Amino acid sequence: MNSSIADNIARVQAQILAACQAAGRAPDSVQLLAVSKTWGPDAVRQAHAAGLTAFGENYIQEAVDKITALRDLPLQWHCIGPIQSNKTRLVAEHFDWVHSVDRLKIAQRLSEQRPADLPPLQVCIQVNVDGGETKSGVSPQELTALAQAVAALPRMRLRGLMTIPEPAETDAQMRAVHAQAKALFEALRQQGLLLDTLSMGMSADMAAAIAEGSTLVRVGTAIFGQR
Ligand SMILES: *Cc1c(COP(=O)(O)O)cnc(C)c1O
Repeated sequence: MNSSIADNIARVQAQILAACQAAGRAPDSVQLLAVSKTWGPDAVRQAHAAGLTAFGENYIQEAVDKITALRDLPLQWHCIGPIQSNKTRLVAEHFDWVHSVDRLKIAQRLSEQRPADLPPLQVCIQVNVDGGETKSGVSPQELTALAQAVAALPRMRLRGLMTIPEPAETDAQMRAVHAQAKALFEALRQQGLLLDTLSMGMSADMAAAIAEGSTLVRVGTAIFGQR
């Protein structure tokens, strides 16, 4: 067995712990999502052997093949990539979570297509906080209306927000963008939505995201290596 994935996971977990301590947060208040896109089932098996159970995928068909090949393991699968209308059924049938909902039409299809024998789909709305080049994500102005509509859909449970900010020049700039996402998250909670998940931070900006209130970091490269 290749020990480097296990070593990488231990190092990332130590970094999460240190960031939590620096921010005065409980160590179990931040979940680690291993982003396994482009890596095969063997890499996921190694990460599972090292204690991880939640995996994130961007490319739907690649993910479905992997999920099918790993049916023997008790894993939780998170869709974190853009979703075209013609892929909603695959997502509804195979994933536990979706972080990348940014249009009501997609959310409605996911809810309608969620099989009755599965629990509701756990959903985050992707918000484009900094107006960055990545065109994905609802604008902050349109967020409230979308969140209220998604929360009312029968076969999904709205859990929170997801962000993919553009890389910033300085740590302070990075933290300022993360703080804006946290403020949007808290504003929705003030309006009565029962949200518990702020999916924010990747390999490069994990510590800054945790300092500003992330509850889930999505880490690929720092666990599996360069894609
Ligand atoms: C690829 C990806 C990640 C992981 O990025 P790394 O820099 O490899 O940690 C996290 N979130 C999303 C949405 C991604 O597409």
